[in-house]
Amino acid sequence: MSRVVVAKFGGSSMADAEHFMAAKQIIARDEARRYVVPSAPGKRRGDDHKVTDLLYMCNQLAQHSIDFGEVFALVAQRYREIYEGLGLKQDLEAALEQVRSEIAGGASTEHVASRGEYLNGLLLAEYLGFEFVDAADVIVFSREGEYDPVGTEARLQEVLADVPRAVIPGFYGADEDGEVHTFSRGGSDVSGAIIASAVDADMYENWTDVSGFLQADPRVVDNPAPIETVSYKELRELSYMGASVLHEEAIFPVREKGIPINVRNTERPEDSGTLIVSDQERVGQSGITGISGKQQFTVITLEKTLMDEEKGFMRKLVSVFETNGVSIAHIPSGIDSVSVVVRSDAVRFNLSKVVEEIRIFCHPDAVHVEDGISLIAVVGRGMVSTPGIAARVFTKLARAKINIRIITQGASELSILIGVEDRQFDDAVRALYSAI
Ligand code: ASP
Repeated sequence: MSRVVVAKFGGSSMADAEHFMAAKQIIARDEARRYVVPSAPGKRRGDDHKVTDLLYMCNQLAQHSIDFGEVFALVAQRYREIYEGLGLKQDLEAALEQVRSEIAGGASTEHVASRGEYLNGLLLAEYLGFEFVDAADVIVFSREGEYDPVGTEARLQEVLADVPRAVIPGFYGADEDGEVHTFSRGGSDVSGAIIASAVDADMYENWTDVSGFLQADPRVVDNPAPIETVSYKELRELSYMGASVLHEEAIFPVREKGIPINVRNTERPEDSGTLIVSDQERVGQSGITGISGKQQFTVITLEKTLMDEEKGFMRKLVSVFETNGVSIAHIPSGIDSVSVVVRSDAVRFNLSKVVEEIRIFCHPDAVHVEDGISLIAVVGRGMVSTPGIAARVFTKLARAKINIRIITQGASELSILIGVEDRQFDDAVRALYSAI
C-alpha cells in the first residue's frame, strides 16, 4: 500500500496566490500528499481581515436587513486576486454570485461561514488538478448540529475509495437534509484530523505559519527552542494551559489510530516542525518537554478539622461548583484543608453564592478566597521519574524569588503544576524555562 498523507493548510497558508503557490510546491514534493484540506483565506498582514470573519459580518448585516454589499466585495476581492494570480479558468463569478444570493436569501450563519472554505477548496482543487470533494457530502452532522463520527467515516471511506487525490474544504459538513454545520472556530484542523483518520493516513500534516510548538510562550521567553517531538498526552497538558497552534479537538480522531501529526511552516518548509506521536513512542524520554501557563485563577480554600474522615465531603464540595455551572481546574488538598482552583471569569458573577453554598453544605471551619493566581504546567513524559528534575525546577524558582502558592503533580505523571501570583507569572515562566 502506498503512503497517504493528509495535508491541512491553515488560513495564513491560504491567504493569497503566493501562498497557494508555496502550498502547491509542498504538495508536489511528496506524492503521498493526496488529500488536501484548506481553511478560508486568513490574514495577509496584521491589520488584514480573515475571510471567515467577513462572512460572519455579512451574515449579521443581512439578518438585520442592512446592505452587506460592501463587506461582501472585500470577500469577493480576496478570491478574485487568488484566481487571477494563479490564472485559473473556472467560473468564479458564478460561484461568488451564488454565495452572495444565499446570504441575501437568509442562509444560516453556519452555511454562510462555511463558504470561505468552500470557495477556497474550489480554487485550490483546480490549481492542484485534484478532484473537489465537497465537505457537505462527506463530513456528517446530525440535524441538531452534532458531529457524527461513525457516519462520517463510512461516507469518507466510500467516497474517497475511488478518488486518489482530492481537495476537501475544512471547517464544515452537513446533515442528512443537506443543511451545513460548522465546527467551532479554527475547525479546519478538526476536519483534517477526521479525514486522516478515515483514510488511515500515515501522517496528518498541519501546515501553518509557525514551525510547530515552542517550549515556552515567545511573548514571555526570548526565542524559546522548538519542540521536536511531543506525545498527544503531553500536548494536551500543554495546550490545556494555553498553547494554541492546533485546535484541541484535532488530536482525538488521529490519536485513536496512532496517526502522527506534523505541525509545519508553509513559509519554511525546510523546518521539520513538531511531530506529535503516540505516548508509547515517547517511552524512555526524560526531561522537560515544554512549559505553559495561564493567569487569572481563583482559589477557594476550605479548612475543616477531620475533613479526611468525613464521608461524602468532596462530593458535597464539588456539587456546589457543578450546580453553579463552574468547571474546576484543580483540587489540591492537604489533611484538613482543600483548595478548589477555578478560572476567575467562571466565578465573576456568582462567587459569593458559591462560597455561601459551601458554608451551608460543607460546614467548613473557615473558607478563604484568593484571586490573581497563575497556574504553570511543566510538562514532560518521564520527567517525574527522572531524579533531579523537580529539584532543578524548584531551585530555579527559589533563585528567582518566586513565591510558590500551589504545587500539584498531575496523576498522569506528565506534569508538575505550579501556582504563583499573577504578578510573578512572567518571571516564573522564565525561571522554569531556564531549568529545561
Ligand atoms: N476559517 C475558519 C475560522 O476562521 C476555520 C479555520 O480556519 O480552521 O475559524
